[in-house]
Amino acid sequence: MNQNFKHEFFNEECWVVNMRAEWTKEYYNIENYVLEDYVIDKMKKFFGSSSKAIFKKSHRWRYAYSKKSLLELSNKNFIESIDHRLYALGDWCQGPSMHDAWLAGKKLAKHFSELRLQI
Ligand SMILES: Cc1cc2nc3c(=O)[nH]c(=O)nc-3n(C[C@H](O)[C@H](O)[C@H](O)COP(=O)(O)OP(=O)(O)OC[C@H]3O[C@@H](n4cnc5c(N)ncnc54)[C@H](O)[C@@H]3O)c2cc1C
Repeated sequence: MNQNFKHEFFNEECWVVNMRAEWTKEYYNIENYVLEDYVIDKMKKFFGSSSKAIFKKSHRWRYAYSKKSLLELSNKNFIESIDHRLYALGDWCQGPSMHDAWLAGKKLAKHFSELRLQI
């Protein structure tokens, strides 16, 4: 995913590439520099680019990844207590990423504004 929208004054292209879980399982012990060269090579081919990477950094994402969101499992956007006073939510309600965490918050805010309209 292109990250430039997060860095308004950034002149260079900035990308975050996530590998699929199955790929990561298969190549779990790959050296970082081998992984980085592999990904950059794939991107160059995909975009038909001859640009050189000026910075690269890879890390493993071991534990936090929702395979199925709460929405997919139960068609709910958050968990709510019976008395509607306590709510639980996070990225896991919508999916695995920051975008999903944001969306989850937005959906709860919408729920609150609809509740207010009913009062
Ligand atoms: C290594 C890693 C890299 C990632 N990279 C990316 C990326 O490049 N792009 C992307 O879109 N997403 C990325 N993510 C996913 C992204 O970080 C999460 O989707 C997002 O942070 C989830 O937001 P959240 O508010 O649901 O939960 P969190 O950000 O985990 O926030 C939960 C908060 O609740 C607090 N908390 C927990 N228990 C309690 C308690 N009992 N009492 C009080 N406070 C408590 C925690 O301290 C934390 O501050 C990455 C995640 C990891 C782990």
